[in-house]
Amino acid sequence: MQYTPLEDIPRIREALRDGFRSGKTKIVAFRKEQLRQLGYMVQENKQAWLDAFKADLGRPYFEGEIHEFIATVTAIKDTYKSVEKWAKTENAPFDISSFSMHPKIRKEPKGTVLIIVPFNYPLFLSITPLMAAIAAGNTAVLKPSEHAPTCAALLHDLIGKYLDHDVVRVVQGGVEETTKLLELQWDHISYTGNPRVARIVSAAAAKHLTPITLELGGKNPVIIDPRCDLETAARRILWAKCANAGQICVAPDYVLVPREVQGKFIQMLKKIHEEFFPDGPAKSDSLSRIVSAAHTQRLASLIQQTKGEIVFGGDIDMESRYVSPTLVLNPSPGEPLMKEEIFGPILPVLPVNDVDEAIEFINARDHPLVIYVFSDSSDFQATVVDNTQSGAFACNELLFHVAAYGLPLGGTGLSGHGLIRGKFGFDTFSHFRGCVNQAGWLDKVLLWRRYAPYTESNRRFLARATADLFPERERREWSLWSLPVVGTIVTLAAAGALLF
Ligand code: NAD
Repeated sequence: MQYTPLEDIPRIREALRDGFRSGKTKIVAFRKEQLRQLGYMVQENKQAWLDAFKADLGRPYFEGEIHEFIATVTAIKDTYKSVEKWAKTENAPFDISSFSMHPKIRKEPKGTVLIIVPFNYPLFLSITPLMAAIAAGNTAVLKPSEHAPTCAALLHDLIGKYLDHDVVRVVQGGVEETTKLLELQWDHISYTGNPRVARIVSAAAAKHLTPITLELGGKNPVIIDPRCDLETAARRILWAKCANAGQICVAPDYVLVPREVQGKFIQMLKKIHEEFFPDGPAKSDSLSRIVSAAHTQRLASLIQQTKGEIVFGGDIDMESRYVSPTLVLNPSPGEPLMKEEIFGPILPVLPVNDVDEAIEFINARDHPLVIYVFSDSSDFQATVVDNTQSGAFACNELLFHVAAYGLPLGGTGLSGHGLIRGKFGFDTFSHFRGCVNQAGWLDKVLLWRRYAPYTESNRRFLARATADLFPERERREWSLWSLPVVGTIVTLAAAGALLF
């Protein structure tokens, strides 16, 4: 991977600003053509992408195709099909006091935007914000992660080949290059990654008052209802923990299991682990590797420091960046494994007495990106969703909510803010410009009353014509109970008069 020279970075931003000022991205047909090109850029280079995922993350082709390649093309196709509808100017809802101005909402691009992405889904996480930015009519710099260098180089080469040079550029590099980018003024910044760097990005954006979207991570808990189908729960949890070797922002981080079923649940996990990896995970073609030596070392240290019982796994090979799926039973809540986002194939399981204790445990920590529940009871599900906060909430399924059509994906609190996917992404990269157009003749019949010299009769007229005030408190209280009471008195009086 060849890093972009630092001195080129301001020039790249200027070229993209000129591209925006040229006005071509305001034409929806042009945006559609760019989106179509983006789709073909992924689709026509499938093997190159799968090889790049393998090179950077040791990822099995199966996962590369099903989890990332298909998800990316499908997302682009949806945006391609929807952009005309999303970009249409909307009439404001009818209101008697303002309809004469024909109020409308124009969806306008923000300008030239910066998109910074992490290593773990190097294609999908680059393309989802990028296609939203293009659909909304922006020009964009994409900054892929230096930790997935093969994917970053491929993005650089293919974007240069498939997309308009005035609309999208890729800046390759690490901290220095990103720092240089962040010194410049942008019209929006989208950052996906960890909260430590998010603070740096936020501080840089604040200098220019740049709007920002933060897609971060966190520790996503799973709560088990003792009455649920434990085998399905164990199978889905282990699958989601092992996909991309646990390097997924919405991976289950830890499991809170009721004491009464803890033993059975652990036995299930052991059985399913053997089913998934009959010859052991080290020899399996179905397990990704950790992205870098530093991250492998970090995971090794979490395992070394745990006070919990290692039920299976715990094997590390630094050279091949291999970490085996590892089940840790009952770690101490204060140890590093339970303090930082794991982002690897280590699954802590902690016993709790009941759902209330599980909720208390979660609420004592930062808001996660997602909370998972395994339960068929709507009461159990409601108890959790009503008493916690998280970016998303998913029952009896893991990871799939990311692909659910029409749903937003975003964090809250320390798991981030702002939304990037689908129509939500289009809105994020758009400025909703309120526009009105008033007729001149209205001055003759009505609006002349607003002008000086102010008079009492004009004040009274305008106040009556335009105000939509709350009823006076006493009258409202009277009117709430008085109608049935008065009605009853009148009815009784009438009945009395007839009878007597
Ligand atoms: P990373 O190390 O690849 O870094 C992400 C980006 O930040 C890179 O482009 C990198 O160049 C840049 N960067 C790193 N240090 C910087 C610095 N000091 N100044 C400026 N830029 C810098 O990836 P990561 O941050 O380790 O990614 C993993 C994290 O991302 C996890 O926390 C995960 O949960 C989160 N994530 C969130 C989502 C989501 O949609 N919410 C998706 C994927 C990953």
